[in-house]
Amino acid sequence: MNRRKFLHLSALTAPLLSVKNALANGFEGTTKPIIISTWDSGMPVNAAAWKVLSTKGTALDAVEAGAIYMENQIDCCVGLGGYPDRDGIVTLDSCIMDHKANIGAVAGLERIKHPVSVARKVMEKTPHVILVGAGAQQFALENGFTLESGELSESAKKAYAEWLKTSEYKPVINIENKKQNGPFAPAFFNDGTPNHDTMGLVAMDSFGNLSGAVTTSGMAYKLHGRVGDSPIIGAGLFVDNEVGAATSSGTGEEVIRICGTHLVVEFMRQGNSPEMACKKAVQRIVNRDKAKAKTLQVGFLAMNKKGQYGAYAIQKGFVFSVKSNNENQIHQSKFLI
Ligand code: ASP
Repeated sequence: MNRRKFLHLSALTAPLLSVKNALANGFEGTTKPIIISTWDSGMPVNAAAWKVLSTKGTALDAVEAGAIYMENQIDCCVGLGGYPDRDGIVTLDSCIMDHKANIGAVAGLERIKHPVSVARKVMEKTPHVILVGAGAQQFALENGFTLESGELSESAKKAYAEWLKTSEYKPVINIENKKQNGPFAPAFFNDGTPNHDTMGLVAMDSFGNLSGAVTTSGMAYKLHGRVGDSPIIGAGLFVDNEVGAATSSGTGEEVIRICGTHLVVEFMRQGNSPEMACKKAVQRIVNRDKAKAKTLQVGFLAMNKKGQYGAYAIQKGFVFSVKSNNENQIHQSKFLI
C-alpha cells in the first residue's frame, strides 16, 4: 500500500481516532506482543513485524523485519529510494537496540539496501557501536551485503531536479500542508513534496522484552555528511528494558540537542505515562526557543513496560501506527503548538 492510500485510510479512520484521543494521558495497551511505529507508513511496517511477534519471535527480530520492509519501498524518506542530500547522494542512517542494551548503528551509509541489518551486524559482530560513511560501507560489503547502483529513484530524481532550481535548504517539517484537509498532515516542502518520514519502531515481544530500530535517509537535501538523530542512541532511539522505549521523528538536530529519547525514557522512569513523558520532552525543545519551535517539528513516540504507549509532537500532524492483538490502527499524536 502506498503513502497516498494510507493518507486516504487515515481520513477514513479519523472518527475512531478522536475516541482514542479522548483517553487522558496516553493510550491503554496492556497487551503483548505489541509494536508501535512512526507515521501512517508504519501500518505495513507493523504488519511485517507482527509476523515475527505473533509467532513468538523476539522484539529485536520484529523491529528489524519492520525496518527492512520499509527499506524495500520506494519512499521519499527511508532506504535507497529516498531523497538525496544536496549533492544528489542518498545517505542512510539507522540504529537498533535490544533489551540488554546492545546497540549498533550506521550513519551516512551509501548504496547498501538494508542499513538496519548492517546496524545489527555492527551490534553483534563488532566491539563498536557506530560505523559511518566509507567504513560502514566497507564493513557491510565484508559482511555479505551487496553494493547497489546508487542511482536515484525516479521520484527522487524528479524532486532533486526541482530542488536544484533554488537549492535552498528550507524544510518545512511536518507543518500542516494547507492543501490537505483532515487531521493527518504529512511532511511537505512548500512545493508539496514530502521531506521526511523516518521510520522508528518500538516493540515488546511475548516475553515482555523491548527492542527498537530506526531507519531513514535523513533530511532531504542535507549537507553531505550530515548525521541526524536517527542513528544516535539516546536521540532517535532509546530502550531500557526496565522502564520503556522511545523513538523520534522530525528535525534531528533538535532531538540530539536534548538527547530526546533518552529523556523520554527517563521521564517514564520518574512515573510519567508514555504520552506525558513525550510531552515533557517536546516541552523541553519548545521552552528553549519558542519562536524557533514554531518553525519545526519533532514527534516522540514511546512505550512503557506495561505495553502502554503514547506520543507528543511540537506541531499538529505527527501520526503513529499501532499493532497488537487488540488493535491495528493509526493514531494522531497530540501536539503543543
Ligand atoms: N529525524 C530525521 C533526521 O533528522 C528526519 C525525520 O524524522 O524525518 O534525519
